[in-house]
Amino acid sequence: MTRNYDQNNIFARILRGEIPNNTVLETNHSLAFHDINPAAPVHVLLIPKGAYVTCDDFATHASADELVDFNRAIARVVELMGLTAGYRALTNAGRDGLQEVPHYHLHILGGRALGPILTKAAPLS
Ligand code: 5GP
Repeated sequence: MTRNYDQNNIFARILRGEIPNNTVLETNHSLAFHDINPAAPVHVLLIPKGAYVTCDDFATHASADELVDFNRAIARVVELMGLTAGYRALTNAGRDGLQEVPHYHLHILGGRALGPILTKAAPLS
């Protein structure tokens, strides 16, 4: 997928301190904060501090330190939010994934039974 990065996307502005956020966790390479429009009792967004557009962009281009930091941050968010009954971690990418903010982010959702992950798409024509 394209990796043209928009320096003015909302999460870039959060990382620059131009827009406030409700921080859950900050590490060397990652930031986790509460989603402004939560879809579940717990809805945290985990983002790398680097300029990556999607999950595959991050997986391809991030350094080993960034990759480890981000994955360890997932575990720390799950622990900090007390998601002992389970959670869902998902990412939207690109047009078909309905990605709204073009800076890679992992949604970490929990706090209630979350239901099925997808509704059935319309049959392909
Ligand atoms: P996407 O659709 O790109 O996977 O998800 C973007 C998410 O970012 C949405 O869940 C939306 O509620 C959240 N969001 C958009 N703008 C802001 C903001 O300014 N602050 C926070 N904390 N979340 C935001």
